[in-house]
Amino acid sequence: MDVIETVEAMAASARASVRAGERVAFVPTMGYLHEGHLSLMRLAKEKADRVVVSLFVNPTQFGPNEDFSRYPRDLEHDLACCREAGVDVLFAPSAEDMYGRGYSTYIDEEEVGHQLEGQYRPGHFRGVLTVVAKLFLIVQPDVAVFGQKDAQQLWLIQKMVNDLNFPIQIVSGPTQRESDGLALSSRNAYLTPEHRQQATCLFLALQEAVRLYQAGERNVYMLRKAMMDLVEAQPEAQMDYIEVVDQETFAPVTTALKPCVALLAVWFGKTRLIDNMLLVDAGSA
Ligand code: AMP
Repeated sequence: MDVIETVEAMAASARASVRAGERVAFVPTMGYLHEGHLSLMRLAKEKADRVVVSLFVNPTQFGPNEDFSRYPRDLEHDLACCREAGVDVLFAPSAEDMYGRGYSTYIDEEEVGHQLEGQYRPGHFRGVLTVVAKLFLIVQPDVAVFGQKDAQQLWLIQKMVNDLNFPIQIVSGPTQRESDGLALSSRNAYLTPEHRQQATCLFLALQEAVRLYQAGERNVYMLRKAMMDLVEAQPEAQMDYIEVVDQETFAPVTTALKPCVALLAVWFGKTRLIDNMLLVDAGSA
């Protein structure tokens, strides 16, 4: 596995791949890798000759009071994971190299990008879309793989690719979970044992929404109420939002007549968790 630490060297490697006619699949990450990331790497391997993974804790997607400085990092572990997954290139640039002095160009999706996560984390998706666009231009992949775990991010990246004509196919991978349903996340490392136990309420709430939907419930007030009751039953849970949106447009709906996504963001102490599930009829999930 090549470990590349500068934008210049990564761009040169990308040009060599293009010249060699290799099909490249790309998996962007912020590191502290877990089975969710590894599942995307495996998917990437199925789609291409060469797999590039980036490891970059992107400062521009964190708000001033967020967890950028304490975001978990473990380079040795991440290197071992990538080697084991058969990754060809690990691209781990520095923030200084990605955002040179006086950096001032950003990509912002002005509608969905300012709702839900974008409303509670102002500027978050502007940072995400900017870094993903930069990484796409540096790595020049044919395919890029993202997790359904971050459903709004996935939607926005597909939108950016469509709007800005990036010649890149976006592929999504299903959310990988712990045995009790908690979605794997690098941020789970922050949870105290007590919060960890209570955090299964995100999964339980989403599962209940799916169960009600599949039993014919289409009233979003009822679906949200059922989810809220399960989250609020946990003494330490503090909700940011629980929402149901149209899968295609990501617009909030009051009646779930088309396939929808139920999403929630919940705090446990200083740890903020997000999760989502598709609301589709049984058998079509
Ligand atoms: P992150 O390192 O958190 O920025 O995530 C990098 C990529 O991994 C994103 O495309 C995420 O959606 C994806 N991802 C994170 N957690 C999971 C999970 N539990 N299952 C599948 N993919 C995930």
